[in-house]
Amino acid sequence: MSYFKPDFLFEHFSDITMTWLDNNRITHIFSDLDSTLAAHNQQGSVQFEEWLDRLHQHNIQLVILSNNSQGRVDKFTEPYGIKGYGMANKPAISKIKGIMKEVGAVPETSIFLGDQLFTDVWCGKRLGMKTVLVHPVEPEHEPWNVSIKRKFETLIRNRW
Ligand SMILES: [Mg+2]
Repeated sequence: MSYFKPDFLFEHFSDITMTWLDNNRITHIFSDLDSTLAAHNQQGSVQFEEWLDRLHQHNIQLVILSNNSQGRVDKFTEPYGIKGYGMANKPAISKIKGIMKEVGAVPETSIFLGDQLFTDVWCGKRLGMKTVLVHPVEPEHEPWNVSIKRKFETLIRNRW
């Protein structure tokens, strides 16, 4: 079950501090969008904006990789001018490897951030990155299919 075991656990994305990122020599964060950086179909919060500002001050690039539509991703990223890819096909990695090349990222200095074991954590592991799992933002607003996945995730977590 180690395919799905994240390297690090944080409650919320904003708990990932610049000190922690610098200590781990992270230059790129590849992140899920829904339930990781914002609730489903919601825009970025003030907390997100502040965190993003700090990332930029530390020359850390945030790249969004979502299995949701490109339209959803564009709507979220537009106010910030950050890179985001919809239909990312996680946990498949061929498309994401191309994106890594495009932004000049290597696995050793990248992390994969997300709220789901079967898509985000597994994907990050397959890419050879360290993985960071966060608790879902506002889980009560999740679609039913995500709620079912959570139940399976709980089963797996209980076996770690
Ligand atoms: Mg998610």
